Amino acid sequence: MASKHTFDAIVVGGGPSGSAAALTMARAGLKTILIERGRFVGAKNFFGGVMYTHALADVLPDFWERKPPFERPVTEQGYWMLSPDSVVRIMHKSEHYKQEPAEAHTVLRALFDPWLAEQAVSAGALLITKTTVTHILQDAKGRVIGVRTDRPDGEIFAPIVVIAEGVNNLLTQKLGLIKNDLPPRFVALAVKEYISLPAKDIQARFGLSGPNEGAAIDIFGDATLGLPGTAFLYTDRNGLSIGVGLLLEEFVTHKLRPYEVLARFKNHPVIQPYLEGGKPLEYGAHLIPETGYNRMPKLSAAGVMVVGDAAGMVDAVHREGTNLAMTAGRLAGTTAVAAHQANDFSATFLKQYRQSLEESFVLKDMKQYRRMTDFLDSSPHFMGTYANFLNDAALRYFTAHGIPKRDMEKQIVGLLQERRSFFGIAQDMVKLLRAMRG
Ligand SMILES: Cc1cc2nc3c(=O)[nH]c(=O)nc-3n(C[C@H](O)[C@H](O)[C@H](O)COP(=O)(O)OP(=O)(O)OC[C@H]3O[C@@H](n4cnc5c(N)ncnc54)[C@H](O)[C@@H]3O)c2cc1C
Repeated sequence: MASKHTFDAIVVGGGPSGSAAALTMARAGLKTILIERGRFVGAKNFFGGVMYTHALADVLPDFWERKPPFERPVTEQGYWMLSPDSVVRIMHKSEHYKQEPAEAHTVLRALFDPWLAEQAVSAGALLITKTTVTHILQDAKGRVIGVRTDRPDGEIFAPIVVIAEGVNNLLTQKLGLIKNDLPPRFVALAVKEYISLPAKDIQARFGLSGPNEGAAIDIFGDATLGLPGTAFLYTDRNGLSIGVGLLLEEFVTHKLRPYEVLARFKNHPVIQPYLEGGKPLEYGAHLIPETGYNRMPKLSAAGVMVVGDAAGMVDAVHREGTNLAMTAGRLAGTTAVAAHQANDFSATFLKQYRQSLEESFVLKDMKQYRRMTDFLDSSPHFMGTYANFLNDAALRYFTAHGIPKRDMEKQIVGLLQERRSFFGIAQDMVKLLRAMRG
């Protein structure tokens, strides 16, 4: 019927999870097609973003020799807690971060994603862009047997489909692997700008000795008006990535416009000097799934597996997503290869995919942090209260007032009590500990 459109495996989506799956399967000899709706792979994608090399190395052991388009290695990283007019910084810089290849690099997705997809193509995968998968095809028994695209004569058949469609998981929903659309309480909206700046200015402002050093800073408190969310400032080769993300529900409840929150953050007296003279070249908004372990879709069914953001695989605590995505793509790919060897594409066989994820850091970490979104949801004051307290406490601590230090210490305790009762603080700490420990 449609033999010219028959493959061993179909991958929907050319992000890190999809390319990792396609690469794994193509390298093992499966006839694999990678379908991407963008004009080119990466055209629609952006992130913060820090890319972690451990997951890339597992997919592509010789990635370093293949010269990935990294921006800067991350040699200094940490957190800034902002109040309206000051900052407390917790930064970590280490010679260890300078090893080659470094464990983390800043990356621009419009460059990285095409490069990773190209590695899959070199391994034998067929890549088609400007093509949207509109339906997942099933046989009379409900087994997935292929996809329909928006191209004329656009049906493609394969016994395995890997859905790597990202956070907006319409196909996963249509297939009934997840019941609801993303609830606004469990999805963040992030806006980001890429600001062009000469490398020498970046290095001077962030105290970096050259292009082989880079900084990744996650910022809390006033950056998000004290609401549950994070902002970031990352150094690229010739520019800065700056952005801010909040739970979607917070934008709605507080009637905030994403670009206004970003503009406010950029104008903060601590942030503005880093951006001085820079030219904004790109602007975008993107969702981040914060659904967590307990609200993930079913990860597989007969003939199909779901990977990466489409399955909510993000660890917001450690700003990790691409490494979970690439690892899931690799494990789905490995499962697909085993399914071909066994000639068994049943739901039971493909459960191996979930088992391998459970054994990896992906589901272990997701399980550990499964209460984090609920914690932020039930403690919306948390980031604002403690970031402001830390800044006010630091001001008292570092200023000589001509009063005995014992009185200064009492004042600091008072600053905390003005904001939260002892009972409230104890409650926050217990909840935070539970959210972190799992
Ligand atoms: C602002 C922001 C900051 C972030 N910072 C970091 C960070 O610093 N470090 C980190 O590791 N992670 C970070 N993340 C998370 C990370 O970006 C994601 O976890 C990761 O991109 C998930 O990869 P993926 O391949 O699953 O999905 P995506 O990268 O979203 O790729 C999905 C692909 O599928 C395509 N597609 C969708 N539907 C179809 C269809 N029907 N047919 C064909 N193609 C389709 C899309 O065009 C896209 O190319 C951040 C995310 C955001 C938004």
